[in-house]
Parts: sequence; structure tokens; C-alpha cells
Amino acid sequence: MRPSRRTRLLLLGSAAVVAVLVLASQTMGSASGESGPSRLTSSGSGEDAPQSTSEFLTMVTEDVDRYWTGAFGDAGLDEPRVGYAWIAPGGVAQTACGPLDESTAAYCPGDDTIYISERFADAIYAGALDRALPGSSQGYGGTLGDFSVAYIVAHEYGHQVQDELGLYERYGDQVPTMAFELQADCFAGVWARSADDEGQLEAGDVQEALDAALAVGDFDTASPGHHGTPEQRREAWVTGFEGAEPGACSTFLQAA
Ligand SMILES: [Zn+2]
Repeated sequence: MRPSRRTRLLLLGSAAVVAVLVLASQTMGSASGESGPSRLTSSGSGEDAPQSTSEFLTMVTEDVDRYWTGAFGDAGLDEPRVGYAWIAPGGVAQTACGPLDESTAAYCPGDDTIYISERFADAIYAGALDRALPGSSQGYGGTLGDFSVAYIVAHEYGHQVQDELGLYERYGDQVPTMAFELQADCFAGVWARSADDEGQLEAGDVQEALDAALAVGDFDTASPGHHGTPEQRREAWVTGFEGAEPGACSTFLQAA
């Protein structure tokens, strides 16, 4: 049974934690939410280096948004409009997809918003979830470092791209979840390639993304919620990275 578009939630997947706090979502370009300093900062230097997890998430999201704004413009399409909300430690976001807590990395089509928990991002960055994630707990990859988090941000934004392209309406009830998930991985790879071409990546970043894609792959192939095996998810990211343009990801779902 598949949820309807309004309530369909595209989770990266992880364990559940309960907490209580309401967050308002933000739209691209508005000020980021307040939060205290935490561990996740880019290894970049200078005034632009993010000082907190929320700043890092915002910085990556804005970069991904900049890429897709350009790509949509090049294709003669309207600029994608997406909101984002970073769930503070202990917080819960009330969303069109229901309450989302600290375990969350998701795109909610019902309110066009990317939700990522700061604590979840910190744990990904630190490799603290490797025993909990389906792939890494079975010895496939692992998450560590800023680009493992960037992979997740770009994946969630990839779902927003699918929404903008009308792929949920077109395919929502006809294709396995996996097709959407692997295409979102592919879109994440396309963005990473653009960042690499701009000289933004550091040594090891590509490997961090590859290892993270393996780590979040799952083996639950009989489940409608199956996102792809570790190898499939890594391969999908590579397809985007090597293809270097969004059309490379049409192998997963064809845009109209
Ligand atoms: Zn997803």
C-alpha cells in the first residue's frame, strides 16, 4: 500500500527518537534557523565556513539549489521552489507529512520542504549511525565527514526535483519507491559533479559520498519501501556524477 502524494514521505531512513518542539519551515533564501554551535562544520576556512550544523546544512542546500535553479533555467523551466527546516536537537517538526523527529532526513512533497535533524546530521558526520544504517551495519560503506551529509542533503533535494518535474503525479503509484530513491541518488551525484567541476570538493569527498550511499542501502527487497541495495545506491550516485547532467538520471524515471 502506497501513501498518497500528500502524505508520502521520502525518508532516508533511520531509528526513531521522540521529542517535542514545533518548527516553522523556511523558504530558500530566508535566514536559517538559530542553533548553537555543534561539531559539523566544513573543513573549509575563512568567513564563509559554517559555524554550526544548521549553517552547514543551509550552505549545502543553497549550493544544491543554485545548481538546480541553473539547470531548470537552462531547460526553460521555472525555478524550483523548496523550503527547508532543520530540526533542532530534541525537536519535532510538524509537517504536512506528520511530525518528524530527530531521526529525520526527508523531503515532504505535501509542503515542499526538506527536513533534516541536526542531531541526525551530526551522527552521520561522525559515523555514529554505522551500526544502525542498513548497509553499513552489514559491512557496506559507512558515513563519515561533511560530504556524507552533503550527499544526504542533495538526495533530499533530488526528491524536490522529482516533485517539480511532476514525477510523483506521473509515476507515483506505478513504479517502486526504489526508482524514486535511486533517481534522487543520481541527482545527488549530478550536483556533486557540478561542485567538483567548480573546485569545491576536497580530497576524499567523493569517497565519503560513495561510502554513505552504500551505508544507506538496504536489503529489504520484498518491501514496497525498499530504497535499493548498497551497490544500487552507490551505482546510482556514480551514474549522476559521471553523467554530469540531469538527463543521465532518466534511466531511473523518465521526465515527461
Ligand atoms: Zn529518498
